[in-house]
Amino acid sequence: MNKVCFFDTKPYDKIFFDQMKNQFGLEIEYFETKLGSKTAFMAKGFEAVVAFVNDIIDKETIDTLYDCGVRILAMRSAGYNNIDFKAAYGKIHVVRVPAYSPYAVAEHAIALLLTLNRKIHRAYSRTREFNFSLNGLMGFDLYGKTVGVVGTGKIGRVFMDICKGFGMNILAYDPFPIEDSDIQYVSLEELCKESDIISLHCPLTKDSFHMINKKTIKLMKKGVYIINTSRGALINTEDLLNAIKDEKIGGACLDVYEEETELFYEDMSYAIIQDDVLSRLISMPNVLVTSHQAFFTEEALHNIAETTLSNLREYFDDKVLTNEICYQCTKSENCPKDKNKRCF
Ligand code: NAD
Repeated sequence: MNKVCFFDTKPYDKIFFDQMKNQFGLEIEYFETKLGSKTAFMAKGFEAVVAFVNDIIDKETIDTLYDCGVRILAMRSAGYNNIDFKAAYGKIHVVRVPAYSPYAVAEHAIALLLTLNRKIHRAYSRTREFNFSLNGLMGFDLYGKTVGVVGTGKIGRVFMDICKGFGMNILAYDPFPIEDSDIQYVSLEELCKESDIISLHCPLTKDSFHMINKKTIKLMKKGVYIINTSRGALINTEDLLNAIKDEKIGGACLDVYEEETELFYEDMSYAIIQDDVLSRLISMPNVLVTSHQAFFTEEALHNIAETTLSNLREYFDDKVLTNEICYQCTKSENCPKDKNKRCF
């Protein structure tokens, strides 16, 4: 049995990993604390570490893990913007779960849109108090509206399929468009100008950081809805808040937030929230915030556990690391993995 420790674990993670750990020959210890430079020492005595989206895996954290003898870090997520890959290169292999359920995330994006547009969250609270008034609950038909999809990868494409079912017109922007597809690609500027609803489905990179900002918002239609189920820092949140106050943006559905790390996944209901931008956003009648839960379905959690444990088994069995990533991935055409089974 190989010894693995998990950081930032919640009770629902354990259910799925415990069901499968024996089958993959792994012994697991779960830590509730997040992984970061101050907690990385807890990995001493373990051969592998499993981490999640809000762990801070910077150079200091990597060096401490390396000193503890850890040589593989398995992300139980698709996104990996929280890792210093340059620091990890040559020391710790990083694997991830590239796809676990694009349906889970795309369906959540749609759930947010339908809820906010048709004010279901408000209607639910009202009828529980026998308030059957309709004032303030008016929405608009999605049929015939134009939705702009930013990022036409796995999730973006499922999202587009669902939108087609509603009879919506679809525009897309992606710097790496799918060739010979029937997707109507336009520039980001045109997408901003033409869309009634904009949904973000691209990774957070230095190119996509704050792609929604006061300049791009200025191009948009008055009353546009923005959906973000990807990463918080795709949006400059202060600019978003100002545009909501100015009534330029008609609605915002946010499953992610750029300063979510210390807040999301925790019960903060007894705390005095110090983040005024988030507090103000949540106070708006046309903003819906969920706490990075778009992935949260049974099917996705099952697939995350299976792929994460399989990634680790491949490492321990000296096999090709199918889902390894490194900072060379974006630039190197001759990946050493083809010859050596691993990125380094
Ligand atoms: P994917 O890799 O299949 O697709 C991403 C697409 O974005 C690709 O087509 C890529 O070319 C495109 N892209 C890259 N840079 C871009 C840019 N600057 N502008 C526009 N498009 C760009 O990824 P996916 O599985 O579809 O996931 C998309 C994102 O969703 C992930 O990066 C992750 O951040 C997020 N996500 C969120 C949750 C959640 O629970 N909220 C769960 C899973 C994934």
